[in-house]
Amino acid sequence: MEKKICIAIDGPAGAGKSTVARMVAARLGYRYLDTGAMYRALTWQALQEGLDFSDEPALVELARTADIQVLPTQDGSPQVLVNGQDVTLPIRSQQVSRQVSWLARIPGVRREMVQRQRRLAAGGGVVMEGRDIGTRVLPHAELKIYLTASPRIRATRRAAELAARGEKVDVHRLEEEISRRDLMDAGREVDPLRPAPDAVYLDCSQMNIDEVVEFILDRAKGVN
Ligand code: C5P
Repeated sequence: MEKKICIAIDGPAGAGKSTVARMVAARLGYRYLDTGAMYRALTWQALQEGLDFSDEPALVELARTADIQVLPTQDGSPQVLVNGQDVTLPIRSQQVSRQVSWLARIPGVRREMVQRQRRLAAGGGVVMEGRDIGTRVLPHAELKIYLTASPRIRATRRAAELAARGEKVDVHRLEEEISRRDLMDAGREVDPLRPAPDAVYLDCSQMNIDEVVEFILDRAKGVN
């Protein structure tokens, strides 16, 4: 039997990481782990509890104690539970999207999340996507992909996704928001968004999803 490896997929918002990671995991019979969903769930809970986003100790304590579950589903995004409550949809709201990078820049919050993510990846056979998977969470992952695309293309794809869910958004506004989130994610002090030195850099602006998936599967075969 082939060895079950860890595949890390990092990159900026809206590059298609989730769709690609999910498809690659399904093809390999691996687990798919969406780490952004964990930061989003935490942000949702902080908003729900009315926490002050400048109160870092309170946010770190929340990260330490939060009951977050990211459960696989047959199709689509994973189901996300906070204290047993299904928050799969609310964590994708614009309100959460606007706050999440602020919370994700706090070192103590990241420390907690990284620990949880490493535990989830134990044993291999995972496709994990996020911002710091190749650089921090799984630095020994056998395959690392840095997936990106131009900001305009990422905004257009994200707008189409939201439209499919019945949410109307202005592409230009979305592009601004995505760029703001990228800046914060790439500019933070702890584990900023950047390609790991040994990552395969893939600009998918001119590729469709299937091409990206095949590219990654091909690389994964090369590892085994
Ligand atoms: O992947 P998604 O866009 O849902 O991630 C939401 C936010 O969570 C990112 O913009 C980033 O601030 C944070 N994040 C992170 N590290 C990860 C995954 C997500 O900082 N590994």
